[in-house]
Amino acid sequence: MSETSPDCLFCRIVGGDVPADVVAESEHSLAFRDIEPQAPTHCLVIPRRHVATVGELADHPDELTDAVVLAAAVAAQEGLDDGYRLVANTGARAHQTVFHAHLHVLGGRDMTWPPG
Ligand code: 5GP
Ligand code: ZN
Repeated sequence: MSETSPDCLFCRIVGGDVPADVVAESEHSLAFRDIEPQAPTHCLVIPRRHVATVGELADHPDELTDAVVLAAAVAAQEGLDDGYRLVANTGARAHQTVFHAHLHVLGGRDMTWPPG
């Protein structure tokens, strides 16, 4: 698979064609605020490379690690010292709606369990 996909929304954000409120960047990853936040802090961390799911990102361990490290940095930057939730909806049944792998960083409020 090529590293970007022209029809993919998040590839277009990586390429700068679609604007995003970028909060952090690293060699392999980009972090920006979710357009429809589900918590006071809600950021998305994505690999620059186009892969559909976090499961497929496991084939690229350096990039998977880079995304998790950037997610932790975003949580620290956002002051989420008392906890945050890292979510990777994987597949349509788990409510993945954008098929470019991403981690949600959610925080700033009490979380409940089990998730919906
Ligand atoms: P998923 O449901 O695939 O786990 O998460 C996709 C996320 O992308 C959703 O939380 C949704 O609000 C967010 N999203 C969809 N379109 C855009 C967009 O154009 N810009 C930004 N910043 N977030 C988006
Ligand atoms: Zn993509």
